[in-house]
Amino acid sequence: MPALSYDPAEPPASPPPECVIPLMWLMAYQLFRDHRPDRDGFCVTCVPDEFVPCVGRHLAERGFRVACGGSDAAPLPDSGAER
Ligand SMILES: [Zn+2]
Repeated sequence: MPALSYDPAEPPASPPPECVIPLMWLMAYQLFRDHRPDRDGFCVTCVPDEFVPCVGRHLAERGFRVACGGSDAAPLPDSGAER
């Protein structure tokens, strides 16, 4: 897999040059922003008390990869079925 031109921890709001699906990038970025950690490390969107990276954050990261032509093969991590 080619090296990323962006920092996965701080992806840019605008699609990077290698992005092939700009709309998906923008949607993933919105998801990424919505599922940011608060100062204690909990997701500000997922309730109650889900640590980042939460499912939303993982989905955003997948979105960034797919938007850049990457693979969607990686399974989502188990989000914990204790709810
Ligand atoms: Zn979340």
